[in-house]
Amino acid sequence: MVRVMVSGACGKMGRSVLNAVQQDPQLELVGAVDLHAGSDIGDLIGIPKTGITVQADLVEAIVSAKPDVLVDFTKPSVVFSNACIALKHRVSPVIGTTGLSDEHKAEIKNLAEENNTAAFIAPNFAIGAILMMKMAKEAAKYMPHVEIIELHHDNKLDAPSGTALGTADMIREVRKSMQQGNPDEFEKVAGARGANVDGIHIHSVRLPGYVAHQEVIFGGLGQTLTIRHDSINRDSFMPGVVMACKKVKGLQGLVIGLENLLD
Ligand code: NAP
Repeated sequence: MVRVMVSGACGKMGRSVLNAVQQDPQLELVGAVDLHAGSDIGDLIGIPKTGITVQADLVEAIVSAKPDVLVDFTKPSVVFSNACIALKHRVSPVIGTTGLSDEHKAEIKNLAEENNTAAFIAPNFAIGAILMMKMAKEAAKYMPHVEIIELHHDNKLDAPSGTALGTADMIREVRKSMQQGNPDEFEKVAGARGANVDGIHIHSVRLPGYVAHQEVIFGGLGQTLTIRHDSINRDSFMPGVVMACKKVKGLQGLVIGLENLLD
């Protein structure tokens, strides 16, 4: 049994994770942390009371519940400190919160190695999204003209999404650096061409009704190819989160990306 604690437990993803962990026979839910402390997690996810109360202080929660794994779905401003606390207590962070900087990832890697405790980060826990990224990388070898449109719910804090940046990075591995579009193009309104990552334009849509969606559009002579993935609800992320909880203890240092856990 893997002992799991959830940080951001009262949030949209946190509640889904509580449910998924509760239902998996190889995982044991031992604690939950959120700013909105005090509720029994049974009340949060609509099951009978469990005796596990959401706590406000992560250190106290870790010391009392002794988890093996801390699943984090909080906020970009909080996740780094949570990961550091977990690693210093030899608890493996499984991080879904997006928005970590490269510097923070490097520090998490160092801390994981120093404490001999693996850490795992997935910009996207949906297996279909990983396949979309892999297929985009393959397509970019033959169709290097590409732009990315990512669409998310309007409460999302960071833009572009971690998945869009991850997709651009994977495409950059196989595509020569180039600027997309007309070399003389100009924006009549600032931002019209979206974010520019090494010449790949990324457009971020934020609207109520969306969960997490992405299109990677390739253009060629007389043809376009669109690779699209849709997470239609938060259940789409749960098989990936459960897999990461089970596999993280067998990893070394910091591992980034669900593709690295697929057999
Ligand atoms: P959410 O509904 O806002 O949930 C975040 C929860 O964390 C809220 O209850 C929030 O409380 C709480 N929180 C804030 N500060 C905290 C702290 N210091 N300690 C513990 N809890 C704290 O957000 P969400 O939609 O669940 O998304 C959470 C993160 O996951 C976002 O970064 C999102 O981009 C990411 N995400 C990743 C994936 C993936 O596959 N990797 C998929 C979906 C979402 P307040 O409301 O009071 O701030």
